[in-house]
Amino acid sequence: MALSGIVGQQRAVSFLKRILKKEAVPHAFLFSGMTGSGKLAAAVEFARALNCQSPQDHDSCGVCGSCRKLDEGLHPDIVHVRSDGAFIKLEQIRELVKRFRFRPFEGKFRVVIIHDAQRMMELAANALLKILEEPPEANLFILLAVESQMLLPTIVSRCCQVRFQPLEDRIVAERLVREEGLSPDSAAGIARLAEGSIEKARWFSRQDQAEGWKRVIERLESLAEISILDFFPMVSDWAKGRETMERDLEFIKLWVRDLILFRVAGARNPGQDAAGSGAALTFELNARTEQAARSVPVEHLFILYQRVELAMQGLRVNANLQMTLEGVCLAIKDFLYGKGNWNSFSKRGQALSF
Ligand SMILES: [Zn+2]
Repeated sequence: MALSGIVGQQRAVSFLKRILKKEAVPHAFLFSGMTGSGKLAAAVEFARALNCQSPQDHDSCGVCGSCRKLDEGLHPDIVHVRSDGAFIKLEQIRELVKRFRFRPFEGKFRVVIIHDAQRMMELAANALLKILEEPPEANLFILLAVESQMLLPTIVSRCCQVRFQPLEDRIVAERLVREEGLSPDSAAGIARLAEGSIEKARWFSRQDQAEGWKRVIERLESLAEISILDFFPMVSDWAKGRETMERDLEFIKLWVRDLILFRVAGARNPGQDAAGSGAALTFELNARTEQAARSVPVEHLFILYQRVELAMQGLRVNANLQMTLEGVCLAIKDFLYGKGNWNSFSKRGQALSF
């Protein structure tokens, strides 16, 4: 690949290409943007273009010795610094400093790419700051971070900042079709889940995630007909999946968002004939749910959405998991499928009478 091959980050890429054209390259960059938006790929391609032996139109050629070494992961002048455990430690920055005694081995620039720069411990950050204040010749630093506010302002002020936007859904979907072999409809659905991150999209596209959300949808749809006696055991069984609860709530939120899109924007079920109708939903709605989404007051759907968001916030501050889930499921039962719809309560109730 080359810098021009980075998809969906036109502004960032053309900014970097302008720098390559000028040949006056700043010694430190901060690439910020969400994980999976292409920061690392851009950093590597920028490094490749800087060191290319026969650049084409201010971009790398892809075939010279330097370009090829980089592909094989053997380029001695491209240095990656990644966190050791949860943090980037002082010793790691000290190790770096040792390298600066030597000029780059082959390339014009030694490019140091610091992954998740927000993970630098304070001492490490201060050591890096010292380096950035008196940058060693022919060395260039690219810090990657989700948000620039996560770094020391003194470090940020020494870097040339390049922002990476969340990728457009269309671009994420195209890549899922091309690289993961998904159908266009499911790729479009997953792209919406991924909120602009190709990494998140890949995660969602893995089979176990698909199984996970199928299970969530089955449970939600079962609320339409469930009896009150089955309701609490179902929820308590669901709440045992503590580690997947955050993800499940995310799915519930997207499902409710689908209901809103279906009602308000005329979105269609995936796989349905696209002619004349809106975008495809992420999830397939069954007939019962479709009918409910069509007939309840539209405010009910918005209230539900808010309830799910509140539940997610609650879980982050350690609200009781089972009660949170119960609250969400009861709200779905009441606001979507109708309060009076507690099925076979009396039947099973009688069976339980003493
Ligand atoms: Zn080259």
